[in-house]
Amino acid sequence: MRLLPIEETHARRILSPVSGFIAAAGFTHSLTPARNCTYGCTYCYVPTMRIQAGLKPEDWRHWGEYTTYKVNAPELLCKELRPDQLIYCSPLTDPYQPAEMNQEIMPLILEQVYIHPPKLFVIQTRSPNILRDTRLLQAVAEHTDLRISVSITTDDDRIRKIFEPRCESIPGRLRTIEELRAAGLNVYATVAPILPCEPAALARMVVEATSNPIIGDPLHIRQLKPRGATTRDAAFKILDHYEQPQWAEVEFQQRLLEVLDHEIRALGGEFAWGPQGFSCLTQPRSSSALASSPTRAGKRSTPTTRRPAKRSPR
Ligand code: SF4
Repeated sequence: MRLLPIEETHARRILSPVSGFIAAAGFTHSLTPARNCTYGCTYCYVPTMRIQAGLKPEDWRHWGEYTTYKVNAPELLCKELRPDQLIYCSPLTDPYQPAEMNQEIMPLILEQVYIHPPKLFVIQTRSPNILRDTRLLQAVAEHTDLRISVSITTDDDRIRKIFEPRCESIPGRLRTIEELRAAGLNVYATVAPILPCEPAALARMVVEATSNPIIGDPLHIRQLKPRGATTRDAAFKILDHYEQPQWAEVEFQQRLLEVLDHEIRALGGEFAWGPQGFSCLTQPRSSSALASSPTRAGKRSTPTTRRPAKRSPR
């Protein structure tokens, strides 16, 4: 992949107290090593948050076209880490976006986490670049509760290519989960956002990938969330272009969640969505967080993908 421009800045702080969705999931802080993310996914909610996400106007106007690294992140972390923190890294960029392979800031961050361990450190990524740091991750996992959450957005790599063309393939992400687990690391599969998919196939894929509860979240839509972060227009345009608007409709999404829940449970897995789903990342494995999981599936028909049409994305 062509490496997009990497800029550098000095941040005032690196750990941010959380609110909203992430706080509701049980985290106390987030860690974002870079502003902007060159994966540039069409659905990414981050640029819709604008200054709330600490972005500059050029970030939301040119989302995905460059990234700006907070080069003093390790020094700041050294001062800000505390043993009672539950940290999510990161809600605002992929910490293993392609630029990380040049910038190499994550090993320095992990070293600080190793030296000053918080209560919990969660890495959210979709990138096999994380495998570079496997030995360091193993060391960190001996000092803190380290969990790695890998985004699996659909079972169909053709769909993935349309919505997130710069990201790793779905088979590549599954291999990443396998290698991380083989290294003894605690790995979750996060179906977020849920892109057009065959729910039964997606359920099988994620249940086979990890023994942890499966976390889900549909595309964010304004009808359900009048303010704050939401899905970028680019993703809605793709759905319209392929005549698949139902994937951003309230009733269809609710039914989709119920069907995925049913399929995952039929395979012996557990599933929860929204903040409750993400709370699986903060709670002990034996927790009853899922006992009050939203409605189980009924017997209505299964949402399925009508395959992408003849037209290619605009
Ligand atoms: S990887 Fe995550 S942060 Fe980066 S563009 Fe995609 S959704 Fe946004």
